Amino acid sequence: MKIHNFNAGPSVLPKIVIKKSAKSVIDFNGTGISLLEISHRSLDFMKIIERTTSLVKQIMNLNDDYTVLFLQGGATLQFTMVPYNLMNKRAAYLDTGIWANNAIKEAKNFGEVKVLFSGKKNNYVYIPENYQIPSKVDYFHCTSNNTIVGTQMKLFPETSIPIVCDMSSDIFSRKLNFHKFSLIYASAQKNVSSSGMTIVIIKKEILDKIKKNIPSYLNYRIHIKNDGILNTPNVFSIYTSMLTLEWIERKGGLSILEEENEYKAQLLYNEIDKNNLFENRIDKNNRSNMNVSFFLKNDNLEKKFNKMWKRENVVGLDGHRLLGGYRASIYNALPIESVLFLIEIMKEFERKFT
Ligand SMILES: *Cc1c(COP(=O)(O)O)cnc(C)c1O
Repeated sequence: MKIHNFNAGPSVLPKIVIKKSAKSVIDFNGTGISLLEISHRSLDFMKIIERTTSLVKQIMNLNDDYTVLFLQGGATLQFTMVPYNLMNKRAAYLDTGIWANNAIKEAKNFGEVKVLFSGKKNNYVYIPENYQIPSKVDYFHCTSNNTIVGTQMKLFPETSIPIVCDMSSDIFSRKLNFHKFSLIYASAQKNVSSSGMTIVIIKKEILDKIKKNIPSYLNYRIHIKNDGILNTPNVFSIYTSMLTLEWIERKGGLSILEEENEYKAQLLYNEIDKNNLFENRIDKNNRSNMNVSFFLKNDNLEKKFNKMWKRENVVGLDGHRLLGGYRASIYNALPIESVLFLIEIMKEFERKFT
């Protein structure tokens, strides 16, 4: 049975990745034992973590100024680790969504937070481009894709201030000049792998600023000094990431994925705009290519629409519990067929109920 998986996270992964990682759980590379049973200090795992690291750098076209860590605690722990490690006095943040807002709350534990823009009052429907980053901040923090509401930053500022970016829901989905960023983090369960692992990409020089005592697990420098295995990492999630990155490589890298993602998103937004029964509330310049949110114009039709898509083996279309409505998460691995299938359902719904 074909399932169309629009889950926001954990979410759809390439079929081949699921197959290979499942196989490795039964028998890892013909060793006769499971991936879950090998030591994180074994040669086998060393090879996995090295290859995953080099694939991250290769796909993002990053030079050796950058180092990659695979940590635990989700993007949520990065909301704390970033200010703990990088904030001496103050930092600037953009409040572009619910996750960004959570990052701000945590940063306030470590110093002064200058919120350059908050979209909270306007339900986060747009992201400005004309904010000024003050010169006396330790870093500037932004969220490249706002998973819950469905907005995406299309432009990143030109600034000499280090840029820190939460890319949890659009990492590896488009080509950017990643050298612009001093620190990038992304929890793996949206576009890369299983939950329980966060990719952290750090420009090493930014760490020289740290002048305080930081507990070991929360200290980037200690992780780096221990070659990324300060403690037992999430072996399974790192291995599965490696498989996804290999899939990205075989597809032809980020420019191909960007094209596909743009195409899928355009098809869906076009249908929402054209369809009499639905609307998207996001500013056209900031519509996300990963999370497409939409609402019924007439709430009374909700039960009927829900019945219709659920019957068709569509899953994960419910909007975030804080927002309601619908959200189609159309990450890298979501096939275009699933987008076309959803569009057909929306068309049929329009024919029946207008
Ligand atoms: C999902 C998400 C998070 C939270 O990730 P966890 O792994 O649950 O901590 C943070 N930021 C963004 C943009 C997200 O999409």
